[in-house]
Amino acid sequence: MRTLIVLGIGSLCFGWAIAAGELPPPEATEQWTPLPPVIAVPAGGVPSDAVVLFNGTNLDAWEPVRSGEPGWKIEDGAMIIAPNPKPCDQRTKAVFSDLQLHLEFRSPAKVEGAGQDRGNSGIFFMGLYELQILDSWQNPTYVNGQAAAIYKQHPPLVDANRRPGEWQTYDVVFIAPRFAPDGRLLAPARMTAFHNGVLVQYDAVLRGPTVFRGEPHYAPHAARLPLVLQDHRNPVAFRNIWVRELTLPETTP
Ligand code: MG
Repeated sequence: MRTLIVLGIGSLCFGWAIAAGELPPPEATEQWTPLPPVIAVPAGGVPSDAVVLFNGTNLDAWEPVRSGEPGWKIEDGAMIIAPNPKPCDQRTKAVFSDLQLHLEFRSPAKVEGAGQDRGNSGIFFMGLYELQILDSWQNPTYVNGQAAAIYKQHPPLVDANRRPGEWQTYDVVFIAPRFAPDGRLLAPARMTAFHNGVLVQYDAVLRGPTVFRGEPHYAPHAARLPLVLQDHRNPVAFRNIWVRELTLPETTP
């Protein structure tokens, strides 16, 4: 009881000290400018400052990575990897650096193949750094190659896959690597990703561009490069793809 009384008196004294002005007024730590840009975010829609890469109607934002090869097809508002004797990835005509991406994908409802040969595609940020797309519903493979893995580098934090044939979402923040003028790596690429709304990659540091064999290594490249979707011979479908280019406060590498 005596302790409680002492604590109570102490609290009263602390409150009195604040009232007496020993701390700065609350206004001293309020920031009023610059105002964040105002954007419109319609419910279930696309933010007004986004670049729409596919809205279900045309492939105008895309081109095959090898000129002369066909683009993918559109069916029921979805962009689908078309059968092609020579698989051909598709890239955006626009180039990007740091960005926020929203993309929806669907593995074929009819399950064919296993492991890496089932619903495989991928998002290559800057055409170099792959966030894996795979039908990973009850489909064992190496964990740093399953859906939502940063391929051969980081397994997802959890397995948030839906069944084949169901639409799924990726929401990703990709931060491009920074290189000095002499080509030295100043800061590696980083990625945070949500799969079906669930955190699967948190500020993951990439060790270099995605490679199938061996260890990745950075090599200097352009500051802005296209986004690429992978053709892995599986008819994966895509819809509602948009990006927001990010201008983040500069940090010291
Ligand atoms: Mg892939």
